[in-house]
Amino acid sequence: MRNVDLHCHSTVSDGLLSPTAVVDLAARGGVDMLALTDHDDVAGLAEAGVAATARGIRLIPGVEISVTWDRLTIHVVGLRIDPQHPALLAGLAAIRAGRRLRAERMAEDLARAGIPGALAGARAFASSDEMIGRTHFARFLVQQGRARNVAAVFRRYLVRGKPGYVAHAWVSLDDALGWIHAAGGVAVLAHPGRYKVGSEGMRRLLLDFRALGGKAVEVVTGNHTREQVSRFAGLAEAYGFACSRGSDYHGPGESFTLPGQLPPLPAGCVPVWQAFA
Ligand code: AMP
Ligand code: MN
Ligand code: MN
Ligand code: MN
Repeated sequence: MRNVDLHCHSTVSDGLLSPTAVVDLAARGGVDMLALTDHDDVAGLAEAGVAATARGIRLIPGVEISVTWDRLTIHVVGLRIDPQHPALLAGLAAIRAGRRLRAERMAEDLARAGIPGALAGARAFASSDEMIGRTHFARFLVQQGRARNVAAVFRRYLVRGKPGYVAHAWVSLDDALGWIHAAGGVAVLAHPGRYKVGSEGMRRLLLDFRALGGKAVEVVTGNHTREQVSRFAGLAEAYGFACSRGSDYHGPGESFTLPGQLPPLPAGCVPVWQAFA
């Protein structure tokens, strides 16, 4: 029985561990196939590949792309991509440039809410100025004593209707899947249970995703309840998608499901990694 984890983060985006440390943790947890899927960046893959070879585990090069679909933010994981493909690299660079401006606007919004210095504060938690996201702001707000932990920050700040939330146009689903496919990869709809759409909206999202060549849905993820796992396993079967499994691990103290510790895919799911054998 394989232990596959196809979604996790390193310090290249908003994880707390280096790519090497993520691979080590996964290997110790018994993972034999791992995808590192940092947000909008592939800069950790070379290091992760070296660590995976040393540990005797298979590294699938991945990325998690931020997309705006029907005014909603959704995440698409690209797996088995060529991390050097020019179209993919250019697309990801454009997203990161947008993050820079968004971070400035988030900091301005927090300043108006009486929290100064958030841009410099968040930057101190990020590994590059370009890869600043809400998690880095959340860590700064915890440091400032504004909330007990990152999860509590997200209830009070950084989400729609709260201080620090800035509406942002990411890239289209069309572009994201185009870059993933150009780079030879497979597109997976990440943690669908997180999207606030009704059943009709989910139907449209799955149809659009399929029409653009999307191949799989993340069924088992640290973000899903048991009910959501069953629901998305059923939807995957109904729409002809393969299924993925990924912890979405970000680091100690923030993610409580370690790489490789999730339940297996439900019976009847076609594993997306079958194609990677
Ligand atoms: P961004 O791409 O900058 O909008 O940040 C998105 C990231 O914020 C996600 O990948 C998670 O790491 C984190 N995040 C979003 N919502 C929550 C939440 N409710 N609790 C903890 N972390 C969250
Ligand atoms: Mn994240
Ligand atoms: Mn995500
Ligand atoms: Mn993720």
